[in-house]
Amino acid sequence: MSSGISEPERVATVTSAPPDTKRSAYTGRLAVVMFGSPGSGKGTQSKFLVDWLRIPQISTGDMLREHIRRGTEVGKAIEARMRAGSLVSDELVNQLVYERIHQSDCDRGFILDGYPRTPAQAQEMMRLLGSVGAREVVIHLVVDYNIIIARMTGRRVCPVCGTLYNAISRPPRVEGVCDLDGEVLGIREDDREDVVRERLTQYEASTRPLIEFFRKSSERLFEVDASQDRPETVFGKIQDALASLLDRDPVQLSGSAMAGMVTDGARAR
Ligand code: ADP
Repeated sequence: MSSGISEPERVATVTSAPPDTKRSAYTGRLAVVMFGSPGSGKGTQSKFLVDWLRIPQISTGDMLREHIRRGTEVGKAIEARMRAGSLVSDELVNQLVYERIHQSDCDRGFILDGYPRTPAQAQEMMRLLGSVGAREVVIHLVVDYNIIIARMTGRRVCPVCGTLYNAISRPPRVEGVCDLDGEVLGIREDDREDVVRERLTQYEASTRPLIEFFRKSSERLFEVDASQDRPETVFGKIQDALASLLDRDPVQLSGSAMAGMVTDGARAR
């Protein structure tokens, strides 16, 4: 495979200047930015973080799929692009995220899963976080593309609760059935191999260069090796990264979440 994602020469440079990231009105609100290629495990790790930190997951992919499912105007406009594995417009995604983080359940913080994905989204995110007094922590999940393709083509999802399974690394107890609610598992149309390859191409071209942007504009960027098969092992590394950071730079989390951060027994490993 030619495109190991840790090769530095493959990281293109984002030409636009990073925004001013000084936050005069920091409110202690935490924005965990889950960053990584399609299939790197952002969704799975985000769900662990929801349970641990008790802040909501904002998945732009889930929000867009929900529009398609409900047949809204937005859904009709984006359906073809999503099925082809292409990105939808920055304006639309920025608007959806703006509206979502202004809902009251995001008051203490939120997890951004699948956003930002382009330089324009990254600029808007930094502006938006500054305006609501939130601080970002960027978790970059690093996985080889060969592993990604194997993972994604074996991926199954519960259509009701969204739990993700994988034939090899995370099989359900009963084949083809969700452990949690007994629903028959499905395959996302955009997990077909040709679409997966298109999504990885999009990621290389538009999204991966954002690592460079985050290196310049964020003091809190963590790279986590997410090639491990066990999602719990990867989550342990994310917990370590967040705990060391939040020791230095406390945020406004619930007592139970903070307790979980300093108690080894509470960790997922
Ligand atoms: P994955 O991270 O595995 O690619 P997602 O569920 O995050 O899956 O995204 C699925 C699709 O939704 C993408 O291929 C794209 O069409 C659309 N999408 C999701 N988030 C964004 C975004 N931030 N900007 C543009 N398009 C997006």
